[in-house]
Amino acid sequence: MSLFQGSINKFIELVKNDNKKIICYGVGKMLDNFIYKSSLLESIECLIDSDINKIGKKIKILDKEFCINDINILENYDSKNFLILITSGYYNEIIEKIYKSFSDKSFIVAVYPIINITYDNSEEFFKNRVLDECINEYRSLLKINGLDFIEIEKKIDEKSKYIIGDSDYRPLVIPRIMIMPTTKCNFTCIGCSSLLPLFDNPQDVDINQIIKDFDIFFSAIDECIRITIGGEPFLYKDLDKILEYLISQDKVLGILMITNSTIVPKNNVIELLKYNKIYIEISDYGHLEKMSKLVSLFEKENIKFEVLTQQYWTDMGNTQKRNRSLEELRFSYLNCEQSRLIKGFHDGYFYTCARSARLKSLGIYDAKEDSFKFSDYSVSEIRKKIQEMYYEKDIAISCDYCDLGTLPNKIIDAGIQKKENMKKSEYTIVKRSEYEKLKINSKLKE
Ligand code: SF4
Repeated sequence: MSLFQGSINKFIELVKNDNKKIICYGVGKMLDNFIYKSSLLESIECLIDSDINKIGKKIKILDKEFCINDINILENYDSKNFLILITSGYYNEIIEKIYKSFSDKSFIVAVYPIINITYDNSEEFFKNRVLDECINEYRSLLKINGLDFIEIEKKIDEKSKYIIGDSDYRPLVIPRIMIMPTTKCNFTCIGCSSLLPLFDNPQDVDINQIIKDFDIFFSAIDECIRITIGGEPFLYKDLDKILEYLISQDKVLGILMITNSTIVPKNNVIELLKYNKIYIEISDYGHLEKMSKLVSLFEKENIKFEVLTQQYWTDMGNTQKRNRSLEELRFSYLNCEQSRLIKGFHDGYFYTCARSARLKSLGIYDAKEDSFKFSDYSVSEIRKKIQEMYYEKDIAISCDYCDLGTLPNKIIDAGIQKKENMKKSEYTIVKRSEYEKLKINSKLKE
């Protein structure tokens, strides 16, 4: 057995050029992700999983049906024509199992989470971590705004060309950032990614500082596809001023707000939420009565939103130092979605991710390698620094205080409270059209 070294592109080349077939080990989200990225569904011959509840079952991926097997099926395949691709976070255990049981076979084994963060050159890095993320964000915006498939594809083609630029100029386009105006929250969620329950003395950032940071940030970049307002945004007293600024800022295409559904915004904020750029995700943590009020208010006022039900979070763990090696930190950083999407600023500093900003505010680490202060640099220097953060940075010290980018993940229920002051309702709110789809899907399965 030998481990494949190289990027996902090199793996695709190997499959295509040598006409190899793939045996995928792991049938979760990572498999879907691989198929989406590689378009190699036709080359997949067989699926394996360790979960006894899945073995023997059939799954359909697009129009191809597979039976899920246990590891012993490898006996039937020769290592000359077949490659193994591990599409699971438990790859170390799986490698060991294959090694122990099939040491007589010289399979080439590729690990999806590793080839997926291996880049052949800086252009590949840019394409995967900036361009693709910008396009994903842009696609979401276009869908929210009700464009049809043809219009979306046309606009995406134009946007891709703009982001890539030409030999003379590549604009600095950012997929998404998060601003963190407050550490206040009325909830105490276990697993809060923003660590808000740890703040003994939660504070608002002064609105003048936020506007100053916006001015600097937007003069340094060309476009930001989407901006998220972090914390519980409806608790921030000057949210109207943030929204007014962002609505009139042409360099921001969309504003995403995520609320825990228990705070009804003030009237002047409601007026601003009606703007086309704004989309609200209502997290259903079980407070049905308050959520219903918010839903009916947003419907009445024609505010765009959706309710996110039955969410799960990846546990980011406590804030203690893990003493990871540089290689582990690099893996963690590159494997973490937040390192691509949730960079952002807080109180005059730009951070590599929201966790980094919160850890610094809590005095847990100094964030020197993972942040910079806007006021220490000129606009052109800031542009360069932001560019480096997106186009070059491949490691962060903050990942030594966090488990989000490590594998395997630990999944936890979203919104479970430390202080049990809220009884979670057994019911939720589902959009009627979605409910009909659910009914049809369940009938199809019968
Ligand atoms: S600290 Fe590292 S793993 Fe955690 S959210 Fe930030 S980039 Fe991701």
